[in-house]
Amino acid sequence: MSLVIIGSAAFDSIETPKGRREKVLGGSGVYASVAASLTGEEVQLVGVVGGDWPESNTRLLESRGIDTRGLEIRPDAETLYWSGRYFENMNDRETLEIKLGVMGTEYDPIVPEEYRKSKFVFLANGSPQCHLALLRQMERTSLIIADTMDFYINNCRQALLELLTKIDGLILNDSESRLLTGEANPLTAARKIQQMGPQFVIIKKGEHGAIMVTPEGTFLQPAYPLENVVDPTGAGDSFAGAFVARLASAEKTGLETIKEALAWATVTASFNVEGFSLERLLEITRDDIEQRRDRFREMIVF
Ligand code: AMP
Repeated sequence: MSLVIIGSAAFDSIETPKGRREKVLGGSGVYASVAASLTGEEVQLVGVVGGDWPESNTRLLESRGIDTRGLEIRPDAETLYWSGRYFENMNDRETLEIKLGVMGTEYDPIVPEEYRKSKFVFLANGSPQCHLALLRQMERTSLIIADTMDFYINNCRQALLELLTKIDGLILNDSESRLLTGEANPLTAARKIQQMGPQFVIIKKGEHGAIMVTPEGTFLQPAYPLENVVDPTGAGDSFAGAFVARLASAEKTGLETIKEALAWATVTASFNVEGFSLERLLEITRDDIEQRRDRFREMIVF
């Protein structure tokens, strides 16, 4: 089943204890789309880039089967640039620089006609105003999941609160859930978010896994244990993209499907952090994810 993803396409400069990379391919929409495409689902990307975006990046996404007709190019503007540095624990990071460029407030996404009947939508990190504009163009969605981050919680709270009334699920990390609700306890924060709109909430806790709160119950998901984390950038986006795509590919709905999609998402994100930028996601196949998912199952079932 097809899946629409809106998010950033960006140049990232990243510094981690394992090294640094300058102006490499990144962006929430790019990570989420590549991760989602690894399930075999048809991914339809919506986003905007500037005149500095090399054609080869678009070709790369297309080579993964990602539909880029919704990727607008604005020749007179610059692509989003983000630079960040990770601390020794690899969980915490600081943003050194962000230039929104084309992602500034004047971006009003245009959803290609061919995307509008897709039932599944993932709203990756980007402005909630853009997310709302995209949803107004969709004709028959059945599952809408969004991600958000401190930048938008701080700067676009009103639009974010409106967005929350229109989505089925929200994925965010523990510090973001605290910022959004004022609650340090993730369970209490998740319940408060449910009262704002989304039926289910997934709160990610980095290397400590994730907690999912649904009307049917609460589930814990450990992270896949890794010895060699190289670059955590995009872990959240690849987790979320893989999660929504896995739900889109499922024949059944229900709790078992959601739990399996969570494991799939965790494993996809674990590959992502083994290399800088998209290096690892571009190397692996669906078989690699399946094999690691099976090993993961053995680790957590008792
Ligand atoms: P994550 O590590 O999952 O939080 O995602 C990191 C990605 O988000 C990087 O590739 C950045 O280019 C992108 N990013 C950083 N800031 C923003 C922003 N304000 N809006 C959209 N995407 C962003």
